[in-house]
Order: sequence, then C-alpha cells, then structure tokens
Amino acid sequence: MAQIIDGKAVAAFVKNREKDKVADLNNQGIKVSLAVILVGNDPASCVYVANKRKDCDELGINSIEYALPEETTMDELLALIDKLNKDKDINGILCQLPLPRHLDETQVLEAISPLKDVDAFHPENVGRIMMGKYEFLPCTPAGIMEMLSYYNIETSGKNCVVIGRSNIVGKPMAMLMLHSNSTVTICHSRTKNLKEVCNGADILISAVGKADFVTADMVKDGAVVIDVGMNRNGAGKLCGDVDFESVKEKASMITPVPGGVGPMTRAMLMCNTVTAALKQNGLK
Ligand code: NAP
Repeated sequence: MAQIIDGKAVAAFVKNREKDKVADLNNQGIKVSLAVILVGNDPASCVYVANKRKDCDELGINSIEYALPEETTMDELLALIDKLNKDKDINGILCQLPLPRHLDETQVLEAISPLKDVDAFHPENVGRIMMGKYEFLPCTPAGIMEMLSYYNIETSGKNCVVIGRSNIVGKPMAMLMLHSNSTVTICHSRTKNLKEVCNGADILISAVGKADFVTADMVKDGAVVIDVGMNRNGAGKLCGDVDFESVKEKASMITPVPGGVGPMTRAMLMCNTVTAALKQNGLK
C-alpha cells in the first residue's frame, strides 16, 4: 500500500520556515503585507479569502482585504490595482478568481505589478517560468514541487505525466517537472490512449477536476500519484480526481484529498508574499 504524502505536514514545515523570515523582517523594521481583492460574493472565493487571512495571521503577515461589490467596473478595479501597485507598504497583490463575467480577467492579471504578483499569473512571470529564471511560481505547482522535494522523490530522468493543461496548474506544473529533469507528457481532453500514456508514468499528476477520473488501471505499479483535483463526489464530500481507495494499492506514494495539494497551495502563497517583501527591500 502507498505511503500517504502528508500535505498538511509539509505545509506546516513551509509556513514555519516563512514565519521565521517574517520575524526576521519585522526585526529589521519591515512589515510584510498582502492585499487581497475580492469582487462579488462567490461562496467558494469567500472561503479561500478567509483562509488566506488565517494563514497571514498565523505567519504575522498583514492581510488587507478589499471586498468590492459584484457590480464593480473595470475602471474601478484597475484604479484600485494601480493604487496598490504604487503603495510601498503593500508587498503582494492578489485578485481572487474567478471574477464576475463583466470583468476582463486577463486585463486585471496584467495590471498587477509583476513584482507584487504573488499568484504568478502576470505574463512576465509566466514567461520567466518558461525560461527557468523566476521569482514567483504559481502556488499549486510550486507546492507540489515542495512536496516532492520534502519526500526526496527523485524527478530526474523519470517519466512524468501531467493530466490537464490549464494556465494555473497543468502548464506550469509540466514546465517545473521539465526543469527538474523529468521527461514530461501533458495530457488533455483530446489525448488519445490516455490510459496507456498514464501507465508509463513514474510520477502521475492529475489536474482535471473530475471525481474518480484516475482509476487503478491507469497507474503503473509503484508510481507516485499527485492529485490536484478538488471535486465533490455524489455524497457532496470533497474528493480529488483519483479513485484513492483502489489507486493507493498500486502507487508507492499518493496525496490524499483533502490534506494533500490543497494545504500546499495555501502555504506557497505565504512563501511568495515573503519573497515579494524580501525582493522589494533588496534582501533577495
Ligand atoms: P481546468 O482549467 O478546468 O483544466 C482542466 C484540464 O483537464 C483541461 O486541460 C482539460 O483539457 C483536462 N481534461 C478535462 N477532461 C479531460 C479528459 N477526459 N481527459 C483528459 N484531460 C481532461 O482546471 P484547473 O484550474 O487546472 O483545475 C483542475 C482541478 O484542480 C480542479 O478540480 C480544481 O478545483 C483543482 N485545483 C486544486 C487546487 C488545489 O490547491 N488543490 C488548485 C487549483 C486547482 P482541455 O484543455 O482539453 O479542456
């Protein structure tokens, strides 16, 4: 049976490390501040924003929330981002996605200063990831890399299959695995013979968003299985993409949902915020 990769434990490790850095900065008279913009009342977004506040509180990071009404205009949102970009007391800026339909997500993400872009969604930061010369990484792929490193999981020369090609998970994940010398295959909804492709994976990373999508017959004996999915099953319970019960009998290591990738995503936002503060103060 697979060893369970404990995302909560790794997240606690990362948060403690970052907390020490925040304390060091505070001792030098530097406060660390994260601005979080929430437009509208999407229930999931409200929970995510509340969790971010909790994490900031835990680490001693000053969290400033801008809860804007659903009918906020593009001009109003861009004006706020411009003000935060110029505010020397703000180190990181995050605009919670998804935005209400009338707002242009791309334009909003491009408006955030790349130096304060703690989600790493700005095209400049995306380009840097491609080149392997980055300051910020998107939180979920970065969290997965931290987990692999924490558990000393060898990536060099391994076959890695990433299912999913979104800008926030699949693509950057594949790029990071490539930088860490894996041979990477990216799969998506048009991929043919998905089962066969997945069976070749030493490291299988699923970011699809469908419960029970990855079944045991898609997993090679002894593979490392990373489940990014966050779904609700028929009973309304939070679950990943992976049929955990059957796959854990074949994999050598596996992340659970909840308690796997999710806590790491949260921890890496704190990491990026501290990095932004260090950079802006010439300390990194
Ligand atoms: P997304 O933008 O919807 O992307 C899903 C990807 O899955 C797409 O590339 C899609 O292919 C692919 N796909 C869909 N059906 C497929 C199929 N039958 N075979 C192969 N590939 C298929 O989703 P996302 O934002 O990347 O998120 C993916 C999942 O991760 C969601 O459950 C999300 O909630 C979760 N998530 C979790 C965290 C965390 O912290 N744990 C963070 C972010 C996201 P096409 O491109 O061809 O459509």
